[in-house]
Amino acid sequence: MESLTKQDLAELRELCPGGVVTEVNLASISQWKIGGKADVFLRPSSTEEVINLRRWFHEREMPHVVVGLTSNLLFADEGLRVPCLQLGPRMGDVAIKHTNVYAQAGAWVPGLACKLMQAGLTGGEHTCGIPGTLGGLICMNGGSQRKGIGSSVVAVESVDQVGTHRVRSAKNCDFAYRQSVFQNNNEVITSAHLRFALGERAAIRSDMRAILAERRKKFPRKEPNCGSVFKSDPAMYAEIGPPGNVIERLGFKGMRVGGAEISPEHANFIVNKGGARAQDVLALIAAIHNGVRSATGYLMQAEGYYVSVSGTVIPLDRAAREYGDAARAAIQRA
Ligand SMILES: Cc1cc2nc3c(=O)[nH]c(=O)nc-3n(C[C@H](O)[C@H](O)[C@H](O)COP(=O)(O)OP(=O)(O)OC[C@H]3O[C@@H](n4cnc5c(N)ncnc54)[C@H](O)[C@@H]3O)c2cc1C
Repeated sequence: MESLTKQDLAELRELCPGGVVTEVNLASISQWKIGGKADVFLRPSSTEEVINLRRWFHEREMPHVVVGLTSNLLFADEGLRVPCLQLGPRMGDVAIKHTNVYAQAGAWVPGLACKLMQAGLTGGEHTCGIPGTLGGLICMNGGSQRKGIGSSVVAVESVDQVGTHRVRSAKNCDFAYRQSVFQNNNEVITSAHLRFALGERAAIRSDMRAILAERRKKFPRKEPNCGSVFKSDPAMYAEIGPPGNVIERLGFKGMRVGGAEISPEHANFIVNKGGARAQDVLALIAAIHNGVRSATGYLMQAEGYYVSVSGTVIPLDRAAREYGDAARAAIQRA
Protein backbone atom coordinates (compact mmCIF):
# COMPACT_ATOMS: atom_id res chain seq x y z
CA MET A 1 0.00 0.00 0.00
CA GLU A 2 1.48 3.31 -1.08
CA SER A 3 1.55 5.93 1.62
CA LEU A 4 -0.19 9.27 1.24
CA THR A 5 1.81 12.05 -0.40
CA LYS A 6 2.13 15.58 0.98
CA GLN A 7 -0.27 16.69 -1.76
CA ASP A 8 -2.79 14.02 -0.66
CA LEU A 9 -2.60 15.22 2.94
CA ALA A 10 -3.05 18.84 1.87
CA GLU A 11 -6.18 17.87 -0.09
CA LEU A 12 -7.53 15.82 2.82
CA ARG A 13 -7.00 18.81 5.15
CA GLU A 14 -9.16 20.89 2.82
CA LEU A 15 -11.89 18.24 2.69
CA CYS A 16 -11.84 17.67 6.47
CA PRO A 17 -10.71 20.93 8.10
CA GLY A 18 -9.35 20.47 11.61
CA GLY A 19 -9.94 16.72 11.49
CA VAL A 20 -6.74 15.26 10.04
CA VAL A 21 -4.29 13.64 12.48
CA THR A 22 -1.18 11.78 11.32
CA GLU A 23 0.97 9.16 13.06
CA VAL A 24 -1.71 7.97 15.47
CA ASN A 25 -0.58 5.51 18.13
CA LEU A 26 -3.41 2.93 18.10
CA ALA A 27 -2.29 1.51 21.44
CA SER A 28 -3.07 4.85 23.05
CA ILE A 29 -6.43 5.56 21.43
CA SER A 30 -8.03 2.12 20.98
CA GLN A 31 -10.24 0.70 23.73
CA TRP A 32 -8.11 -2.46 24.03
CA LYS A 33 -4.97 -0.25 24.11
CA ILE A 34 -3.44 -2.46 21.42
CA GLY A 35 -2.09 -1.74 17.94
CA GLY A 36 0.83 -0.19 16.10
CA LYS A 37 0.91 3.22 14.45
CA ALA A 38 -1.81 4.37 12.02
CA ASP A 39 -0.71 6.66 9.19
CA VAL A 40 -3.70 8.98 9.33
CA PHE A 41 -7.02 9.47 11.10
CA LEU A 42 -9.75 11.63 9.53
CA ARG A 43 -12.42 12.94 11.89
CA PRO A 44 -15.16 14.61 9.82
CA SER A 45 -17.53 17.19 11.30
CA SER A 46 -20.47 16.84 8.87
CA THR A 47 -22.19 14.47 6.45
CA GLU A 48 -20.97 16.69 3.64
CA GLU A 49 -17.37 16.09 4.69
CA VAL A 50 -18.00 12.32 4.79
CA ILE A 51 -19.45 12.52 1.24
CA ASN A 52 -16.46 14.50 -0.05
CA LEU A 53 -13.93 12.20 1.64
CA ARG A 54 -15.58 9.09 0.25
CA ARG A 55 -15.66 10.59 -3.26
CA TRP A 56 -11.95 11.43 -2.93
CA PHE A 57 -11.14 7.85 -1.85
CA HIS A 58 -13.31 6.41 -4.62
CA GLU A 59 -11.62 8.48 -7.34
CA ARG A 60 -8.25 7.13 -6.16
CA GLU A 61 -9.54 3.58 -5.48
CA MET A 62 -8.05 4.02 -2.04
CA PRO A 63 -9.14 1.52 0.64
CA HIS A 64 -9.93 2.99 4.05
CA VAL A 65 -11.37 1.86 7.38
CA VAL A 66 -14.41 3.26 9.21
CA VAL A 67 -14.46 3.27 13.01
CA GLY A 68 -16.36 4.79 15.90
CA LEU A 69 -14.89 4.55 19.41
CA THR A 70 -13.03 1.28 18.60
CA SER A 71 -14.79 -0.54 21.46
CA ASN A 72 -15.31 -3.64 19.32
CA LEU A 73 -12.03 -3.60 17.40
CA LEU A 74 -8.59 -5.18 17.64
CA PHE A 75 -5.93 -3.34 15.62
CA ALA A 76 -2.91 -5.15 14.16
CA ASP A 77 0.44 -4.90 15.92
CA GLU A 78 1.86 -3.61 12.61
CA GLY A 79 -0.52 -0.62 12.72
CA LEU A 80 -2.65 0.67 9.84
CA ARG A 81 -1.32 1.79 6.43
CA VAL A 82 -4.68 2.96 5.02
CA PRO A 83 -6.61 6.06 6.16
CA CYS A 84 -9.01 5.61 9.07
CA LEU A 85 -12.30 7.54 9.00
CA GLN A 86 -13.44 8.02 12.60
CA LEU A 87 -16.89 9.37 13.44
CA GLY A 88 -16.89 10.75 16.96
CA PRO A 89 -17.71 13.87 18.98
CA ARG A 90 -17.37 16.22 15.99
CA MET A 91 -20.50 14.48 14.64
CA GLY A 92 -22.23 13.88 17.97
CA ASP A 93 -25.35 16.11 17.87
CA VAL A 94 -28.64 14.81 19.29
CA ALA A 95 -32.07 16.45 18.85
CA ILE A 96 -35.21 15.16 20.57
CA LYS A 97 -38.73 16.02 19.35
CA HIS A 98 -41.45 14.35 21.43
CA THR A 99 -40.69 10.59 20.99
CA ASN A 100 -38.46 11.06 17.94
CA VAL A 101 -34.69 11.26 18.33
CA TYR A 102 -32.40 12.49 15.56
CA ALA A 103 -28.77 11.74 16.35
CA GLN A 104 -25.51 11.91 14.47
CA ALA A 105 -23.45 8.73 14.23
CA GLY A 106 -20.66 10.03 16.44
CA ALA A 107 -22.97 10.50 19.45
CA TRP A 108 -21.59 8.74 22.54
CA VAL A 109 -24.06 6.00 23.47
CA PRO A 110 -24.08 6.38 27.31
CA GLY A 111 -24.57 10.16 26.84
CA LEU A 112 -27.45 9.51 24.44
CA ALA A 113 -29.05 7.12 26.98
CA CYS A 114 -28.87 9.89 29.62
CA LYS A 115 -30.49 12.40 27.24
CA LEU A 116 -33.33 9.93 26.61
CA MET A 117 -33.83 9.51 30.36
CA GLN A 118 -33.86 13.30 30.87
CA ALA A 119 -36.48 13.62 28.10
CA GLY A 120 -38.61 10.93 29.80
CA LEU A 121 -38.16 8.44 26.97
CA THR A 122 -37.98 4.70 27.68
CA GLY A 123 -36.53 1.91 25.52
CA GLY A 124 -32.88 2.99 25.42
CA GLU A 125 -31.98 2.06 29.01
CA HIS A 126 -30.23 -1.15 27.91
CA THR A 127 -27.57 0.89 26.05
CA CYS A 128 -26.52 3.06 29.01
CA GLY A 129 -23.31 1.09 29.74
CA ILE A 130 -22.14 0.47 26.17
CA PRO A 131 -19.00 2.53 25.53
CA GLY A 132 -19.35 3.17 21.78
CA THR A 133 -20.80 5.58 19.25
CA LEU A 134 -24.32 5.37 17.85
CA GLY A 135 -22.88 4.49 14.40
CA GLY A 136 -20.95 1.55 15.87
CA LEU A 137 -23.96 0.46 17.90
CA ILE A 138 -26.23 0.46 14.82
CA CYS A 139 -23.63 -1.36 12.71
CA MET A 140 -23.31 -4.05 15.41
CA ASN A 141 -27.04 -3.90 16.36
CA GLY A 142 -25.58 -3.75 19.84
CA GLY A 143 -27.50 -3.75 23.08
CA SER A 144 -27.88 -5.57 26.36
CA GLN A 145 -30.65 -7.21 28.38
CA ARG A 146 -31.37 -9.35 25.28
CA LYS A 147 -32.15 -6.23 23.24
CA GLY A 148 -30.60 -4.56 20.20
CA ILE A 149 -30.70 -0.89 19.11
CA GLY A 150 -32.32 -2.00 15.83
CA SER A 151 -35.74 -2.22 17.48
CA SER A 152 -35.63 1.56 18.17
CA VAL A 153 -34.49 2.57 14.68
CA VAL A 154 -36.88 4.31 12.27
CA ALA A 155 -34.32 5.16 9.59
CA VAL A 156 -30.56 5.38 9.09
CA GLU A 157 -28.68 7.86 6.91
CA SER A 158 -25.41 6.72 5.38
CA VAL A 159 -22.89 7.47 2.66
CA ASP A 160 -21.98 4.65 0.29
CA GLN A 161 -18.54 3.92 -1.12
CA VAL A 162 -18.95 6.19 -4.15
CA GLY A 163 -20.06 9.07 -1.92
CA THR A 164 -23.83 8.90 -2.46
CA HIS A 165 -26.03 9.88 0.46
CA ARG A 166 -28.59 7.14 1.32
CA VAL A 167 -31.55 6.79 3.66
CA ARG A 168 -32.74 3.33 4.74
CA SER A 169 -35.85 2.46 6.69
CA ALA A 170 -35.30 0.07 9.63
CA LYS A 171 -36.77 -2.73 7.48
CA ASN A 172 -33.94 -2.28 4.97
CA CYS A 173 -31.23 -2.38 7.64
CA ASP A 174 -31.67 -6.19 8.05
CA PHE A 175 -31.31 -6.07 11.82
CA ALA A 176 -30.83 -9.46 13.49
CA TYR A 177 -29.01 -10.52 16.68
CA ARG A 178 -25.77 -8.42 16.63
CA GLN A 179 -26.13 -8.06 12.86
CA SER A 180 -27.07 -5.36 10.36
CA VAL A 181 -26.68 -4.66 6.67
CA PHE A 182 -23.91 -2.17 7.53
CA GLN A 183 -21.53 -5.02 8.42
CA ASN A 184 -21.38 -5.94 4.73
CA ASN A 185 -22.36 -2.96 2.57
CA ASN A 186 -19.35 -0.66 3.12
CA GLU A 187 -21.58 2.34 3.94
CA VAL A 188 -20.69 4.95 6.56
CA ILE A 189 -23.59 5.64 8.91
CA THR A 190 -23.84 9.39 9.43
CA SER A 191 -27.05 9.77 11.46
CA ALA A 192 -30.19 7.96 12.56
CA HIS A 193 -33.81 8.62 13.38
CA LEU A 194 -34.79 6.62 16.46
CA ARG A 195 -38.13 6.37 18.25
CA PHE A 196 -38.78 5.57 21.90
CA ALA A 197 -41.86 5.45 24.15
CA LEU A 198 -42.91 7.96 26.78
CA GLY A 199 -42.07 6.80 30.30
CA GLU A 200 -41.48 7.95 33.87
CA ARG A 201 -38.15 9.70 34.27
CA ALA A 202 -37.58 8.37 37.83
CA ALA A 203 -38.31 4.77 36.80
CA ILE A 204 -36.02 5.05 33.77
CA ARG A 205 -33.21 6.47 35.93
CA SER A 206 -33.62 3.69 38.48
CA ASP A 207 -33.57 0.99 35.74
CA MET A 208 -30.40 2.51 34.30
CA ARG A 209 -28.74 2.57 37.73
CA ALA A 210 -29.64 -1.11 38.23
CA ILE A 211 -28.22 -2.02 34.79
CA LEU A 212 -24.97 -0.15 35.49
CA ALA A 213 -24.64 -1.72 38.97
CA GLU A 214 -25.13 -5.21 37.52
CA ARG A 215 -22.51 -4.53 34.81
CA ARG A 216 -20.05 -3.23 37.41
CA LYS A 217 -20.49 -6.46 39.38
CA LYS A 218 -20.21 -8.82 36.39
CA PHE A 219 -17.70 -7.23 34.00
CA PRO A 220 -14.01 -6.38 34.45
CA ARG A 221 -13.64 -2.61 34.61
CA LYS A 222 -10.04 -1.87 35.47
CA GLU A 223 -8.14 -3.35 32.51
CA PRO A 224 -8.75 -2.35 28.87
CA ASN A 225 -10.99 -4.79 26.99
CA CYS A 226 -13.50 -4.93 24.17
CA GLY A 227 -16.56 -6.24 25.99
CA SER A 228 -17.80 -9.77 25.35
CA VAL A 229 -15.53 -11.60 22.93
CA PHE A 230 -17.98 -14.29 21.78
CA LYS A 231 -21.62 -13.94 20.76
CA SER A 232 -24.25 -15.90 22.59
CA ASP A 233 -25.64 -18.72 20.43
CA PRO A 234 -29.28 -19.52 21.31
CA ALA A 235 -28.86 -23.29 20.71
CA MET A 236 -25.66 -23.44 22.77
CA TYR A 237 -27.23 -21.25 25.46
CA ALA A 238 -30.22 -23.60 25.78
CA GLU A 239 -28.09 -26.75 25.87
CA ILE A 240 -24.99 -25.79 27.89
CA GLY A 241 -25.25 -22.10 28.81
CA PRO A 242 -23.86 -18.68 27.81
CA PRO A 243 -20.29 -18.38 26.41
CA GLY A 244 -18.81 -17.05 29.67
CA ASN A 245 -20.06 -20.05 31.69
CA VAL A 246 -18.95 -22.58 29.08
CA ILE A 247 -15.46 -21.02 28.77
CA GLU A 248 -15.15 -20.90 32.57
CA ARG A 249 -16.21 -24.55 33.00
CA LEU A 250 -13.52 -25.58 30.51
CA GLY A 251 -10.91 -24.00 32.79
CA PHE A 252 -9.87 -21.03 30.63
CA LYS A 253 -10.33 -18.31 33.26
CA GLY A 254 -7.02 -16.62 34.02
CA MET A 255 -5.22 -18.16 30.99
CA ARG A 256 -2.57 -15.73 29.81
CA VAL A 257 -0.58 -15.16 26.62
CA GLY A 258 1.88 -12.26 26.76
CA GLY A 259 0.02 -9.25 28.14
CA ALA A 260 -3.47 -10.62 27.38
CA GLU A 261 -5.54 -12.58 29.88
CA ILE A 262 -8.91 -14.34 29.91
CA SER A 263 -10.48 -12.31 32.68
CA PRO A 264 -10.71 -14.08 36.06
CA GLU A 265 -13.85 -11.94 36.62
CA HIS A 266 -15.74 -12.97 33.47
CA ALA A 267 -14.45 -15.66 31.11
CA ASN A 268 -15.99 -14.07 27.98
CA PHE A 269 -13.71 -11.04 28.39
CA ILE A 270 -10.06 -10.80 27.35
CA VAL A 271 -8.26 -8.02 29.19
CA ASN A 272 -5.01 -6.20 28.50
CA LYS A 273 -2.86 -6.60 31.62
CA GLY A 274 -0.29 -4.23 30.11
CA GLY A 275 1.61 -4.34 26.84
CA ALA A 276 -0.67 -6.95 25.24
CA ARG A 277 -0.20 -7.50 21.52
CA ALA A 278 -2.91 -8.29 18.99
CA GLN A 279 -1.23 -11.68 18.46
CA ASP A 280 -1.62 -12.45 22.18
CA VAL A 281 -5.36 -11.76 22.00
CA LEU A 282 -5.75 -13.80 18.81
CA ALA A 283 -3.89 -16.69 20.46
CA LEU A 284 -6.34 -16.70 23.37
CA ILE A 285 -9.33 -16.46 21.02
CA ALA A 286 -7.97 -19.42 19.01
CA ALA A 287 -7.40 -21.42 22.22
CA ILE A 288 -10.97 -20.77 23.46
CA HIS A 289 -12.54 -21.38 20.05
CA ASN A 290 -10.74 -24.70 19.59
CA GLY A 291 -11.29 -25.77 23.21
CA VAL A 292 -15.04 -25.14 23.09
CA ARG A 293 -15.35 -26.83 19.70
CA SER A 294 -13.55 -29.99 20.87
CA ALA A 295 -15.44 -30.19 24.16
CA THR A 296 -18.95 -29.29 22.97
CA GLY A 297 -19.05 -29.31 19.17
CA TYR A 298 -20.19 -25.65 19.11
CA LEU A 299 -18.35 -23.21 16.83
CA MET A 300 -18.55 -19.92 18.68
CA GLN A 301 -18.59 -16.68 16.71
CA ALA A 302 -16.71 -13.62 17.91
CA GLU A 303 -18.56 -10.32 18.33
CA GLY A 304 -15.68 -8.00 17.50
CA TYR A 305 -13.46 -7.43 14.48
CA TYR A 306 -9.75 -7.46 13.66
CA VAL A 307 -8.38 -4.59 11.57
CA SER A 308 -5.33 -5.71 9.57
CA VAL A 309 -2.44 -3.46 8.59
CA SER A 310 -3.90 -3.15 5.06
CA GLY A 311 -7.34 -2.23 6.40
CA THR A 312 -9.13 -5.56 5.99
CA VAL A 313 -11.77 -5.90 8.71
CA ILE A 314 -12.64 -9.50 9.61
CA PRO A 315 -14.36 -11.17 12.59
CA LEU A 316 -11.95 -11.92 15.42
CA ASP A 317 -12.54 -15.69 15.31
CA ARG A 318 -11.66 -15.74 11.60
CA ALA A 319 -8.57 -13.63 12.28
CA ALA A 320 -7.55 -16.07 15.03
CA ARG A 321 -7.80 -18.92 12.51
CA GLU A 322 -6.06 -17.03 9.67
CA TYR A 323 -3.21 -15.87 11.87
CA GLY A 324 -3.11 -19.28 13.55
CA ASP A 325 0.63 -19.87 13.19
CA ALA A 326 1.57 -16.64 14.89
CA ALA A 327 -1.11 -17.33 17.51
CA ARG A 328 0.26 -20.82 18.23
CA ALA A 329 3.78 -19.37 18.48
CA ALA A 330 2.49 -16.83 20.99
CA ILE A 331 0.94 -19.63 23.09
CA GLN A 332 4.25 -21.51 23.06
CA ARG A 333 6.17 -18.34 24.04
CA ALA A 334 3.87 -17.75 27.01
C1 LIG B 1 -16.44 -2.56 28.38
C2 LIG B 1 -17.26 -2.87 27.15
C3 LIG B 1 -18.56 -3.29 27.29
C4 LIG B 1 -19.34 -3.57 26.15
N1 LIG B 1 -20.63 -3.97 26.32
C5 LIG B 1 -21.40 -4.21 25.24
C6 LIG B 1 -22.78 -4.60 25.40
O1 LIG B 1 -23.30 -4.72 26.50
N2 LIG B 1 -23.49 -4.83 24.28
C7 LIG B 1 -22.96 -4.68 23.02
O2 LIG B 1 -23.69 -4.90 22.05
N3 LIG B 1 -21.67 -4.33 22.85
C8 LIG B 1 -20.88 -4.08 23.92
N4 LIG B 1 -19.57 -3.72 23.74
C9 LIG B 1 -19.00 -3.65 22.38
C10 LIG B 1 -19.08 -2.26 21.72
O3 LIG B 1 -19.12 -1.25 22.71
C11 LIG B 1 -20.29 -2.11 20.82
O4 LIG B 1 -20.28 -3.05 19.78
C12 LIG B 1 -20.35 -0.69 20.23
O5 LIG B 1 -21.60 -0.51 19.71
C13 LIG B 1 -19.30 -0.40 19.19
O6 LIG B 1 -19.30 0.99 18.95
P1 LIG B 1 -17.98 1.76 18.49
O7 LIG B 1 -18.36 3.16 18.16
O8 LIG B 1 -16.91 1.60 19.50
O9 LIG B 1 -17.65 0.97 17.16
P2 LIG B 1 -16.22 0.41 16.67
O10 LIG B 1 -15.74 -0.61 17.65
O11 LIG B 1 -15.33 1.54 16.36
O12 LIG B 1 -16.66 -0.33 15.34
C14 LIG B 1 -17.42 -1.51 15.39
C15 LIG B 1 -17.89 -1.84 13.97
O13 LIG B 1 -18.80 -0.84 13.57
C16 LIG B 1 -18.34 -0.20 12.36
N5 LIG B 1 -18.68 1.22 12.48
C17 LIG B 1 -18.38 2.07 13.49
N6 LIG B 1 -18.90 3.29 13.24
C18 LIG B 1 -19.51 3.19 12.03
C19 LIG B 1 -20.23 4.12 11.21
N7 LIG B 1 -20.44 5.39 11.59
N8 LIG B 1 -20.72 3.68 10.03
C20 LIG B 1 -20.54 2.40 9.63
N9 LIG B 1 -19.88 1.48 10.36
C21 LIG B 1 -19.38 1.88 11.54
C22 LIG B 1 -16.84 -0.45 12.31
O14 LIG B 1 -16.37 -0.45 10.97
C23 LIG B 1 -16.75 -1.83 12.96
O15 LIG B 1 -17.01 -2.84 12.00
C24 LIG B 1 -18.78 -3.41 24.86
C25 LIG B 1 -17.45 -2.98 24.73
C26 LIG B 1 -16.71 -2.69 25.85
C27 LIG B 1 -15.30 -2.17 25.69
